[in-house]
Amino acid sequence: TRWRASVLTIFPEMFPGPLGLSLAGKALEAGLWALDAVDIRQFAGGRHASVDDTPFGGGPGMVMRPDVIDAALEAVLAPGERAIYLTPRGRVLDQALVRELAGRPKVTLLCGRYEAVDQRVLEAREVEEISIGDYVLSGGEPAAIVLIDAVVRLLPGVMGAPEGLDEESFEAGLLEYPHYTRPAEWQGRAVPEVLLSGHHENIRRWRRQQAEEITRARRPDLWARYLERQTDSKKKEA
Ligand code: SAM
Repeated sequence: TRWRASVLTIFPEMFPGPLGLSLAGKALEAGLWALDAVDIRQFAGGRHASVDDTPFGGGPGMVMRPDVIDAALEAVLAPGERAIYLTPRGRVLDQALVRELAGRPKVTLLCGRYEAVDQRVLEAREVEEISIGDYVLSGGEPAAIVLIDAVVRLLPGVMGAPEGLDEESFEAGLLEYPHYTRPAEWQGRAVPEVLLSGHHENIRRWRRQQAEEITRARRPDLWARYLERQTDSKKKEA
């Protein structure tokens, strides 16, 4: 069965948005994944006509009501399923988590707006929390788009050349090596000799070395983890 994303939002018109174009859009059209955007406002009917209300304890902004969010979750979650709330205080999305999410049959993404979602519904529904980085967006929708985009390109049949995936930044725990295309000389700058050599083993070694240098210089955090993993795998070999 194909991978499915259900997005709970007060702006369903933001979807598919960029996900309807290019690689993700073609895959969506081909039925390699499915998307539904569910309007949270639909669940704010009756006595409580709005999605949000003022925060207890005062302070700026509005808070999304637990009863409305719960009704929306009830409508889209199968028994035992959990939702993901996109929030700056969540586990930070990285390629390992993207891969894990791609391995699930579906994700249900709750997009916040205003100041927050009432804490009680997050607890009652055991909602998972994911952040796309240490900065604050005005709403969860762009974060949902980022998460879905990263997952979709890993789904079977979506990328033309699946071997390209392993070479990529982060798959090896490294930043990516530099790329070059024609012309072989441009504004007095030549393409590195080795890439024109046709010697695949040398090219592979050169790329690995470049990736290591760039990672060491730019991302000491990734570099330390990379070295740790290398030591671990050597220990396992021994
Ligand atoms: N009061 C929140 C705080 O201080 O962390 C910020 C709320 S933000 C203005 C509104 C919504 O945007 C959040 O509820 C969340 O759904 C979404 N959002 C903002 N930044 C995000 C991030 N880095 N990752 C994922 N979602 C984010």
